[in-house]
Amino acid sequence: MATDYYAVLGVRRDASQDEIKKAFRRLARELHPDVNPDPKTQERFKEINAAYEVLSDPNKRQVYDLGGDPLSASGTGAGAGGFGQGAGFGFSDIMDAFFGAAGGQRGPRSRTRRGQDAMIRIDIDLEEAAFGTTKEIQVDTAVRCNTCNGEGAAPGTSAQTCDMCRGRGEISQVTRSFLGQVMTSRPCPQCQGFGTVVPTPCPECAGDGRVRARRTLTVKIPAGVDTGTRIQLAGEGEIGPGGGQPGDLYVEISENPHKIFQRRGDDLHCTVTLPMTAASLGTKVPLETLDGAAEIDIRPGTQSGQSIPLHGRGITHLRGGGRGDLIVHVEVLTPSKLDAEQENLLRQLAKLRGEERPSGQFAPGQQGLFSRLKDAFNGR
Ligand SMILES: [Zn+2]
Ligand SMILES: [Zn+2]
Repeated sequence: MATDYYAVLGVRRDASQDEIKKAFRRLARELHPDVNPDPKTQERFKEINAAYEVLSDPNKRQVYDLGGDPLSASGTGAGAGGFGQGAGFGFSDIMDAFFGAAGGQRGPRSRTRRGQDAMIRIDIDLEEAAFGTTKEIQVDTAVRCNTCNGEGAAPGTSAQTCDMCRGRGEISQVTRSFLGQVMTSRPCPQCQGFGTVVPTPCPECAGDGRVRARRTLTVKIPAGVDTGTRIQLAGEGEIGPGGGQPGDLYVEISENPHKIFQRRGDDLHCTVTLPMTAASLGTKVPLETLDGAAEIDIRPGTQSGQSIPLHGRGITHLRGGGRGDLIVHVEVLTPSKLDAEQENLLRQLAKLRGEERPSGQFAPGQQGLFSRLKDAFNGR
């Protein structure tokens, strides 16, 4: 049962602390269960942990060198309670192995942390997306507590060094785990690892250093935003605990549907209906665009389904200058509910054009749905 800890780590009996640490780190990286889940390797991992546990501690190493087994000796007052039996092995040593020794940077953690980001959604109209706008928004976030200035202690009092961990923020204990008996370091339960306690928390914020408040912000919305675009307002999110640096606020755009224009990218689409006569003879049609009244030129012989682009009348490109197009789709209306005179005129026209008995020719190149429907309709 006498494990040779030196052999486990592959170091000489007179190895320095530094050599022991290096050997352990190298092996831990290689054999860590997350890296190498093989059961044999995990056994080895436990061994190197035990070996390091002993050899890295000058006192335990001495006990071991004199023939004792320091891992079965009962250690310091583990008492404290409150912590579960967690599979705690020398976690920070393992972290050291992976991330390099943060060189004694263990110790109390700061009460001050960065705040969380927040997000708010706003609805805007198409016109606002096209040209940009400015919006006032109400946000409800954590802000610094003015009573304690973010420090969490009631006015006239201050945080004090924790007497349980003496300001270290962590306590060491010896626990039994699947690795055998090991020394673990845990955040101090009295101060939650801060190293200090606030005996009289601020009554306003209950010691958090921040309170919730509603603010009104003015947001500049650039031209070209679309549904899903997020605008970042740096530092306008939640303030952090302990008066920590605030997170960012994201304003997410949701664009209201427009009653005339459909947006596809930065182009806008709309449909105008035209009487058959106007489509055939050509005309000018007034059209309300985002830029105000415009006129579209319908050339003689315009077909249903044809589209007429109005360049630069769409949405401003979010990045880079210029604008998308407004694309006007034409739908030609077939005259119906003809009176006797109209019917007569149309028949005369059909006769003049030799269209009294049209053969229903396929449009060239139109092998799509329309042709198939026509086939079905004609029973072919
Ligand atoms: Zn306060
Ligand atoms: Zn403490």
